Amino acid sequence: MLKKNLRHIQMEIAAAARRAGRSPSGIRLVAVTKTVGPDEIREAAALGLRDFGENRLQEAKPKLQLFPELRWHFIGHLQTNKVKEVLNAFSLIHSLDRFSLARELQRRAERLDTEARCLVQLNISGEKSKFGLSEVELPDFLEAMHGFSRIKIEGLMTMAPYCDDPAETRPIFRRLRELQEACARPGMELKELSMGMTNDYTVAVEEGATLVRIGTALFGKRTG
Ligand SMILES: *Cc1c(COP(=O)(O)O)cnc(C)c1O
Repeated sequence: MLKKNLRHIQMEIAAAARRAGRSPSGIRLVAVTKTVGPDEIREAAALGLRDFGENRLQEAKPKLQLFPELRWHFIGHLQTNKVKEVLNAFSLIHSLDRFSLARELQRRAERLDTEARCLVQLNISGEKSKFGLSEVELPDFLEAMHGFSRIKIEGLMTMAPYCDDPAETRPIFRRLRELQEACARPGMELKELSMGMTNDYTVAVEEGATLVRIGTALFGKRTG
């Protein structure tokens, strides 16, 4: 099942990339393993997947311990009191969404003598239920990040609202791409665009996603 799902997703990504004149090699699949157990993670890794995403530290911890060789992405809302552990275990944080979090990431990264690789999360749709900076806040936020020596901003992330017709999500993903182009600077190229989930990843790839975060299409419907 997992193998078939993965093949299907990879074909869809390749087809969407081709439609947009992109190389499929520029798109990384992040396998989202919330509610997924170790056996399936092992199976996914055996199929060649290397990037895995979790949105809650507590649930992620035992999996990170079992599979330290995999690249773990933190994709959920990050509380400042979890920063230390997240920095220790995750290779990329997709959810930098406020100044106070940046301050704590800088402080902890200094102490651990490491760097915090982050994507800035944008709330483009403006939904109240979603985290992320508004686009008008982005330029000043990025400017301020130059003052945080331990934080490496590698790109932008967003979540589109759920739509029955995924084509309706296109303006959201296109906007993230436009913001990337408008805000990129030498030393802060914002190379990564983390956008697209099960429902809308083909649209996201057409619009320039470099990281797609997929759970359901890979592992099946979540029960928990
Ligand atoms: C759960 C989750 C995903 C994956 O969602 P699916 O619809 O199951 O593919 C992607 N991104 C974030 C931030 C998530 O929390």
